[in-house]
Amino acid sequence: MFNEAGVEYNVLCTVNSANWNKGKQVYNNIKQMGARFIQFIPVVAYHKGKPLGFTVPEKGFGTFLTDVFKEWVEGDIGFMFVMNFESAMSSHANGYPLICFHNKECGSPFVIESNGAVYSCDHYVEDKYQLGNIAQTTFSEAATSQKHQSFLSLRSTKYCQKCEFLSVCNGGCPKHTKPDGSNHLCQSYKTFFKNTQNTMKYIVNNLL
Ligand code: SF4
Ligand code: SF4
Repeated sequence: MFNEAGVEYNVLCTVNSANWNKGKQVYNNIKQMGARFIQFIPVVAYHKGKPLGFTVPEKGFGTFLTDVFKEWVEGDIGFMFVMNFESAMSSHANGYPLICFHNKECGSPFVIESNGAVYSCDHYVEDKYQLGNIAQTTFSEAATSQKHQSFLSLRSTKYCQKCEFLSVCNGGCPKHTKPDGSNHLCQSYKTFFKNTQNTMKYIVNNLL
């Protein structure tokens, strides 16, 4: 319907235990639908120290993105826009990724629920990160609140200091932290950055 009406739209596709090894197929299916803007979001959830069944395997997100990248780079540069690649290219170009996972710090993408409750982030809609209610709390008060400062302190690169990809990865989302303190997607990020960085830098330096 959007295609017929000439309306552009973005497809948000999760990467999980069922599709992590089908990157090429998933990407081409979305492309055939007529979509040109895509973002891939990893599904990671732990319960009692163990990943839940639908969680993408630790290396799976990297495998998926690398497979999609191979397809994209062959003929879709400038035609298909994959947010994950746009973000990595932005990191290589100017040090500012588009994905908050790879920012130096978590920011203030506040969430407001239908009842007015304000939270630090949509990954942390939990009582201890409720910053107030929009009916009584200003954004300035929310941003400077103690609860929001505790949320910001969740971000850690303690296990990343010797990593060659630290400047483009910055440790990932704290919601994906494993019980040992490392990031569930660390191996995926290493795989993705290792397999794509030379081509990304070439695109940034020669094609943009
Ligand atoms: S907690 Fe995760 S999703 Fe939220 S701002 Fe930080 S990196 Fe982004
Ligand atoms: S790839 Fe792993 S070790 Fe390197 S910065 Fe990212 S999360 Fe840290």
